[in-house]
Amino acid sequence: MSDKGKAAVAAHKIHAIVKYPDPVLSRPAEKVTEFNADLVELVAEMFESMYAAQGIGLAAPQIGISKQITVIDVSFKERPEDKLVLINPEISERKGKQFEEEGCLSLPDIREKVHRAAAVTVRAQDEFGEFFEVDGDELLARALQHEIDHLHGVLFIDRLSRLKRDLIYRRIRKLQKNGEW
Ligand SMILES: [Zn+2]
Repeated sequence: MSDKGKAAVAAHKIHAIVKYPDPVLSRPAEKVTEFNADLVELVAEMFESMYAAQGIGLAAPQIGISKQITVIDVSFKERPEDKLVLINPEISERKGKQFEEEGCLSLPDIREKVHRAAAVTVRAQDEFGEFFEVDGDELLARALQHEIDHLHGVLFIDRLSRLKRDLIYRRIRKLQKNGEW
């Protein structure tokens, strides 16, 4: 009897997504220094939590863990090779410009265009501590910049004009008042 099939569908804990204005979202996350089985499990839980929330990227602060860990899958389960685990990531190169719409699991139903680099190169570690580099353009470049921002306590609304940001704050306060946030 093989339990391979079982392992593939083994359930991992689904974490609740932390919403703005939880302070964990605006706090710079700590670097990961220990690479162990707990970290491997946490990464698996982050992927499950991201898929459960219909997201293509999730940063650890979004589940209340202030550590420099983020997972991305711009294909949303379509291409296994698109699954990215980025620990202690740093953007080493930025090229060009793009201005496209973004959303965030911590800011449900809010979408705005954000100025970003068109392409980036990121150096990071995987969940086993191995260093690697990844190049991304278009959607992947946006996801990389958006998720790495989270690890520095920056949300995409922080990159909007003052006017747009104030409108969003007002909208959120109204939703909070109505118990819809
Ligand atoms: Zn986000």
